[in-house]
Amino acid sequence: MSRTVIPLGRWAGVAIDVHWSVLVAFALLTGSLATDLLRRTVPDQDMAAYWVVAVIIAVGFLASLLAHELAHALAARREGAQVRRITLWMLGGTTELDGEPANPRTELLVAVAGPIASLVCGGAGLGAAFALRGPAIPLVVAGLGWFGLTNVVLGVFNLLPGAPLDGGRILHAVLWHRSGDRARAAEIATRAGTGVGLLVVAIGVGDLLFGSFSGLWLVFAGVFLLAAAQAELAGSPARDRLGDLPVGAIMDPAPDTAPEWLTIEAFLDQVTPGTRRRVFPVVSFEGHPVGVISLAELTQVAPRERRFTRVTDVCRATPGASIVDIGTPVAELLSKTTLRRGRDLAMVVRDGRLTGVVDADDLTRAVELALLGRSTYADH
Ligand SMILES: [Zn+2]
Repeated sequence: MSRTVIPLGRWAGVAIDVHWSVLVAFALLTGSLATDLLRRTVPDQDMAAYWVVAVIIAVGFLASLLAHELAHALAARREGAQVRRITLWMLGGTTELDGEPANPRTELLVAVAGPIASLVCGGAGLGAAFALRGPAIPLVVAGLGWFGLTNVVLGVFNLLPGAPLDGGRILHAVLWHRSGDRARAAEIATRAGTGVGLLVVAIGVGDLLFGSFSGLWLVFAGVFLLAAAQAELAGSPARDRLGDLPVGAIMDPAPDTAPEWLTIEAFLDQVTPGTRRRVFPVVSFEGHPVGVISLAELTQVAPRERRFTRVTDVCRATPGASIVDIGTPVAELLSKTTLRRGRDLAMVVRDGRLTGVVDADDLTRAVELALLGRSTYADH
């Protein structure tokens, strides 16, 4: 998922972002509610009334998706875990924690909070629809009924026992608690996720064959689940074996740097001849990391501009230029960022000053060594 997001602000210290695909989902949902679902359930109403109710219900539905994620975040905070951010996107939302849950109990409570919130929203919607039923406002009742039912379905869907669904996290927590073997539990939960993904795709395809358009959503969701489960399956054994190896152990401790005040021309004359590096940390006069530049980016600067453009003008702060403390576990850096080869760097700091860099190759090497049962280098 790309990080093209609209920040919605912070709530209790948690950044809430909305991915642009939510706008697409909102438009599709409002449209299908107004022109299809509500109209079929309650025919012969004023067209404007369909649209008004559709917009209100769609907004309410997005709010209920947010409530699901906020429930995860609140549970995490209660358990003392740091919540990095909440992102809403087309197929729901994600709540990112800083690092992995410390114990099965925390994982279980955080995972179960989201579906509970969905089921509560669902119950509230269905309850309100039931209380307001009668001939006076059938359109509102239909809208509330759809809202309630959809939230119940979402709550139940999220409880399916396969990672990365909440149910998969619950399964993982239970297996982890029972056996004490976190890595093995992760493997089983992600394999179950592959199974659930395949099942959802199959049901979606069946739906489509029988002419129901909603099958397309299931196929979408199933394919997403499969991809996410595969990604976790590939990532977790290495992450587990890395343990708490710090970035300081795998960094290049004497990187060539790009002083921010140099012109591109001076940088090319003074720094690049003496190194095989393609990406450089940009540092301020005081030695603080400012961002990164890559040779690939410098090729975009016109030759005659090189004498007038300074390193600071083309340097990139984020994304791709993470600043991490020297004690940060490699596993955490891996789960936080994707470093592109020849483009990005993680800048390692001690007391705010640049002390080394880690690039994509360093990370890959650390993972490969971990898989080979070696976690440190002889020369560090
Ligand atoms: Zn959830």
